[in-house]
Amino acid sequence: MSQQGYVAAPPYSQSQPGIGGFSAGFGPPNSSPHYGHYGDSSFSAPQPGVSKSTVPFGSSAPVGPPPPGTHQFSQTSFQNGPSTSRQQPHRFQGPPPPSNTGPSYPPYSHQLQPAYPNTASTAPAAQLANQLNSMQINSYGPGTAPSPPRMSSGHPASFQGPQSPPPTQQQMALPPGSQIPPPGNNINGPCAQPSLPPMARQDGTPGPVPPNPNLQQLSGQPPGPGYHPQQANYGPQMAGSQLSYPGAFPGGPAQLSGPQQKKLDPDSIPSPIQVIENDKASRGGQVYATNTRGQVPPLVTTDCVIQDQGHASPRYIRCTTYCFPSSSDMAKQARVPLAAVIQPFATVLPNETPLYVVNHGETGPIRCNRCKAYMCPFMQFIEGGRRYQCGFCSCINDVPPFFFQHLDHIGRRIDHYERPELSLGSYEYVATLDYCRNNKPPKPPAYIFMIDVSYRNINSGLVKLICDELKTLLDKLPREEQEEASAIRVGFVTYNKVLHFFNVKSSLAQPQMMVVSDVGEVFVPLLDGFLVNFQESRSVINNLLDQIPEMFAETNESETIFAPVIQAGMEALKAAECAGKLFIFHSSLPTAEAPGKLRNRDDKKLLNTDKEKVNFYEALARDCVANGCCVDLFLFPNQYVDVASMGLVTMYTGGTLYKYNNFQVDADSPQFLSDLRRDIEKKTGFDAIMRVRTSTGFRATDFFGAIYMNNTTDVEMAAIDCDKAVTVEFKHDDKLSEDNGALIQCAVLYTSISGQRRLRVHNIGLNCSSQLADIYKSCETDALINFFAKSAFKAILSQPLKVVREILVNQTAHMLACYRKNCASPSAVSQLILPDAMKVLPVYMNCLLKSCVLVGRPEIPTDERAFHRQLVTSMGVADTQVFFYPQLLPIHSLDLKNDAVPAAVRCSEERLSEGGAFLLANGLSLFLWLGVSTPPELIQGLFNVPSFAHISTEAMSLPDLDNPFAKKFKSILKHIQSQRPYTMKLMIVKQREQPEMLFRQFLVEDKSIYGGASYVDFLCCVHKEICQLLS
Ligand SMILES: [Zn+2]
Repeated sequence: MSQQGYVAAPPYSQSQPGIGGFSAGFGPPNSSPHYGHYGDSSFSAPQPGVSKSTVPFGSSAPVGPPPPGTHQFSQTSFQNGPSTSRQQPHRFQGPPPPSNTGPSYPPYSHQLQPAYPNTASTAPAAQLANQLNSMQINSYGPGTAPSPPRMSSGHPASFQGPQSPPPTQQQMALPPGSQIPPPGNNINGPCAQPSLPPMARQDGTPGPVPPNPNLQQLSGQPPGPGYHPQQANYGPQMAGSQLSYPGAFPGGPAQLSGPQQKKLDPDSIPSPIQVIENDKASRGGQVYATNTRGQVPPLVTTDCVIQDQGHASPRYIRCTTYCFPSSSDMAKQARVPLAAVIQPFATVLPNETPLYVVNHGETGPIRCNRCKAYMCPFMQFIEGGRRYQCGFCSCINDVPPFFFQHLDHIGRRIDHYERPELSLGSYEYVATLDYCRNNKPPKPPAYIFMIDVSYRNINSGLVKLICDELKTLLDKLPREEQEEASAIRVGFVTYNKVLHFFNVKSSLAQPQMMVVSDVGEVFVPLLDGFLVNFQESRSVINNLLDQIPEMFAETNESETIFAPVIQAGMEALKAAECAGKLFIFHSSLPTAEAPGKLRNRDDKKLLNTDKEKVNFYEALARDCVANGCCVDLFLFPNQYVDVASMGLVTMYTGGTLYKYNNFQVDADSPQFLSDLRRDIEKKTGFDAIMRVRTSTGFRATDFFGAIYMNNTTDVEMAAIDCDKAVTVEFKHDDKLSEDNGALIQCAVLYTSISGQRRLRVHNIGLNCSSQLADIYKSCETDALINFFAKSAFKAILSQPLKVVREILVNQTAHMLACYRKNCASPSAVSQLILPDAMKVLPVYMNCLLKSCVLVGRPEIPTDERAFHRQLVTSMGVADTQVFFYPQLLPIHSLDLKNDAVPAAVRCSEERLSEGGAFLLANGLSLFLWLGVSTPPELIQGLFNVPSFAHISTEAMSLPDLDNPFAKKFKSILKHIQSQRPYTMKLMIVKQREQPEMLFRQFLVEDKSIYGGASYVDFLCCVHKEICQLLS
C-alpha cells in the first residue's frame, strides 16, 4: 500500500521556487478579499459554492454511536446510549501505554470538582434570582406601540423590548464606573458607543424543559447547591409579572416618554457566570463519555472526567456547533461558523487514559486507498470482515490479511474493543520509514539555549539568573515515561553583535568557545561537541554555565543581532539532522548591522497592517519550519522591540512568546523562571504536519494557529506542544447526509521527544440537520469566540480595523436574527430572543471587541497589541474563554474548611464591594483587589499588617504566612495558575488608588477606559441590529 498520501508530497519540499506560499498561506484566501464568512457583511451575501469532484455517495456506512460503554459508571447521567452494565475491559494489543495500570478506567467516585460550596449567600451572583424585571429602556424597536410584556415561547432567554417610548433619542444610564462616554471614535465601529437601542426587556426562559438536549438528559439531576439553574431564575417571568426595577425610575412604564435616565438591570441579562455555574452544577465532577455522535460536551470551565468511547475528547477537539447544517444554503442563512478547535497534544487528567499506541510493524497504519483516512471507528466492516467501507469517502477497501477478523452478529468485529483504532476517538500509530524525512528514522530532538549577553542583560543579572537556573533545569528535560533519562540533546550559544558557540563535549576538561563574527552568512563552527547529552556532559556544561556571566562581565556591547541567532540555531539543527527548539533570551531591538536588523518603527499608522512586520522574518520562519526548528522567545524589553517582527518566527514555528516588560531580577524572576521551567518540561511533538480529513460534502477551508501552510491542506508546525490549538474552519461543498453526519479526522505526524516518528489521530463525528433549530441547539459559545478571535486577529493584518469590527458585530446580529426569524416562536419584533446555547455570545463578543488588539487606541503600545495577537492565535478554547472573560473570585468570604475555589462573580465594578477582596485572573494578568473596608482579619491573615493603610502595593508576592487565610489563598492561586500556560505575576491593587485603572480594564462588562461598550450597551446595540435585519 502506498503511504504517500500523507507525507510524500508537500512536507519536505518547502522552499520551492514559485510557490510563494508564505504570504499566500497566511494572507486571506485569494478568493475572498474580505474577512467574514461570505465576503461581505450584508445580510445574505451568497458564497459561490465550491465544487469538488465528489465520489458517489452510495450506501455509506452508517456511523452510529459506538456501542455501549464497556466501563462501569458510578454516575450514568451522561450515558446516552444503551446500558452500561456490561463490563468488558479493553484489551489492546500493541505496546501498553505508559504507566498503564491495565486497561480498566479509574473509578469515578473521584470527584474532580468538589460540589460547589454554598457561597451564594455572599456572592453577588446570587442576586440574580428574582431580579428579572421587564425593564423599560429606550425602546425604539421597529414597533413603537407599547405592548404588554409577553413571554417568548420556546426556551431561549428572551428579552422583550418595550415599545412605548416615542422614537426620540434617549440616554441610557450607564452602569456605575463607566460614566466616561468615549470620544466619537469611529474606528470602533458600531457599538463602540452606547447607541441606545431601546430595550425594555423581560427575561423569560419559560418552560420547565431546557432546550439543550444534554441538559434534558440531566433533568432529573439536582443542581449543585447554591446555584439555581438559570431557568429557575427566569421563573418570575413565568407569571408574566412585571416587576419594576428598584430605584430605576418611579412610576414605571407610564413615564417612559420624555428624556430620562434609565438603567438596565445587569441582573436581568444573561450572565456568563450563571451559565458556567449551571453547567458545573449539572455536569461537573462526572464522567463524560464520548459515545454519541453530535453530543455537546460540558463547558470548558466544567471539570469532569472524559472517557473516550469512540469520539475524541473535548480536550482535543471542540466544535463551534455539534450539528452542521445539511446544506450550504442553510449554512449561509445561519452564518454560524462551522469550525473545530483542535489541540492535538492537550494535557489529559491523571485519571484519564493516555493515548494507546498502535504498532503494525513494517506494514504501518491502515489507510483508505482513496482518501488516505486512517483506520478508525468510522470504518464499516462488510462482507464477513474481508472488506471495509470508508466513512469519509465511502470507498470499499480490502482488509489486509494480518488485520482480518470475523464479525459478530451485529456486524462488528470481534476484536472491536481490543483495538484502539476501532473503538476509540483518539490513539497513536507508530509510523514507518515512509513517514520519515528522507526515509530515515529521526534522531531525538535537540534544545539550543541562546543567551543575549549584551551589556544590559549582564548588568541586570539576567544572564546569571538564566545560567544558574539551567544547571538544575536540564535535569528536567522531557522524557518518555519508560526511559530513565531524556534523549534530548542540548547546545549553548551566547551572542551580542557576534555569536559564540560552545563545545561542551564530555571528554573536555573545559568548555571551548568559538566566535562567529561574520553574521551576514552564519555558519556553524563545530559539529562534534556542540549538541550533547546533558547527563554525559554535565560537568563541562555546569562549568560553562558558571563561566558565562564572568566571561562577559566587563562587556560594554549594547547592540545585538537577532535573525542571525535564529539562523545559527537552525543551521546547527540542520547539520545535526534533527528537529528541535531554540530558547532565545533577548532584550532589545536588534539594531546591530546584520540581516534582520530592525529600526524603531513604533509608528501607530502601521498598526495591525502587514507592514507591521518585516518580510525578512517571514522567510526566516519558512526556513525554520522546513528544518523542524521551533523558536521559543523570551523577551525582556525596556522599550519598543518590534514584537510584530521578532515574534513572527516564534508564531509560525509553533513556538511560544514570553514577554517581561522592564524586567527586574528581584521582582520578576519567579514569573520568568516558572515559565521557563514549564516550557522546558512540556511534552512537545516536533517536525509536525497536521492533516484534517472530512467526510463527503464539506472540507476544511481555513486554518488559524501558530502554524505554517505551504499548500491548502497541510498544516506544518516545527513543533506543537500541549497548549497550542489550531482552529479549523469548514465549508460545505455538497449536501450533507443526516444519516452519515459530518465526520472529521485530524492526523498529526510528528517526532516524539525520544525520536520516534508517530501519528496521532483524533476522530470526531458531528450530526447534520436540515432544521436550523438543531444547529443553534448544538452550538458552543466558547468555541465560537475562539474562532471569532482568531479569524479577526488574522483579518486585521489585511483589512481596516473598522471593517473587522463591523463584521464581528454584524455576524453576531445575523446569527441571532436568523434564530429569531426561523427558530423562535412568533413574538414582537422588539423582543430580543437568544438561543439558549448562545445566551452569552453577546457579552463574550463584546469582550473580544474590547481586547487591546481590536480597539484602535493609540495609548496601547504596538508591542503589546502584537504580543496579544500572537498569543491568542495559538490558544485553545479554555484559554480564550478566560482571556476574554476573566475569572473574578471573591476571597473575603472563603470557606476555609473547603478546598474548592470559590465561585466567580461577573466582571463588573458593581460586583465589587468596599468590604471585599477579589482575585482577578485572565491567564496573563493576576490582580488582588482590596476594598477600602476589607476586614482587618483578612488583611492581617494575608499581609501580616494591621490595616488597609499598611498594605504595600509594591510587593509582588504575599508574605509566606502560616494561617488559614494565607494557606487557602495560596491554594486558590496555585489552582488558578495550574490551569494556565503562562505564569501570572500577582499585582496588588487598592481601591481608589492609581493602579486601579489598570485593574478596571479587566472588568469587561463595564465600559472600558479605551471606549469599549459596556455589556448592556452592546446588547442594546446588537438588538438594534437584529431588529434592522428582521425589518
Ligand atoms: Zn476514504
